Amino acid sequence: MASTIVAIDGPSGVGKTTASKLVAERLGLPHIDTGAMYRALALKAKRLGIAFDDAERLAGLASSTTIDFVPGTRPPRVLLDGADVSDAIRTPEISMGASTVSSVPAVRRALVRMQQDLGERAGGVLEGRDIGTKVFPGTPLKFFLDARAGVRAERRFRELQAKGSDVPLETVAREMEERDAQDSTRADSPLTCDDSYTRIDTSDLTIDQVVDAIVARIRQFGEDVS
Ligand code: C5P
Repeated sequence: MASTIVAIDGPSGVGKTTASKLVAERLGLPHIDTGAMYRALALKAKRLGIAFDDAERLAGLASSTTIDFVPGTRPPRVLLDGADVSDAIRTPEISMGASTVSSVPAVRRALVRMQQDLGERAGGVLEGRDIGTKVFPGTPLKFFLDARAGVRAERRFRELQAKGSDVPLETVAREMEERDAQDSTRADSPLTCDDSYTRIDTSDLTIDQVVDAIVARIRQFGEDVS
């Protein structure tokens, strides 16, 4: 089980984070939220006054930054150079900033290496956009979660409202569309899904149904998965 890598990719608002967290708990594996790592780097850039598209300075920043997770916390607490930034990275500005910094190839190289190191430590359920294509392409356990655009925007809208945000649904939907377009069309590691993935449309499923489907499929692979 220690070396098991589960890849969960897909666009925003499909339930990746909740599903990944629950699958990790069911399998006794660490949950590694790779989006949180791009967000943490975007936050550091903002604090230092580095533009989200300044490729040269971002490359230097990525190679001199440490990003880690506090083990056993739910949801995982994110450490940026040792300081907890879990809440500061969840703003609309940092969502878009993360998408922009993540299209810089040197940033991707540095973060992919960090993600591989984290996964190699103790296995893990890794969620992101390129886990099954770039970070751990060799794992047979690849899932691509998707959902109808309206459902995804509505979910994200409700999440933000629960945190006290008053951003209108139309704005949430527009920003989500922009970010997904940027993530799917960038030159380096765009969000894609091929036949090696099990695809799950979460639009009409409860979170428990999504988790059950993923765990059942993993068990079909048997052998080293309990
Ligand atoms: O998943 P989350 O919305 O937190 O990710 C924030 C951004 O980080 C995404 O919009 C995407 O641009 C980027 N990302 C990425 N590769 C990953 C995970 C996230 O490019 N593996």
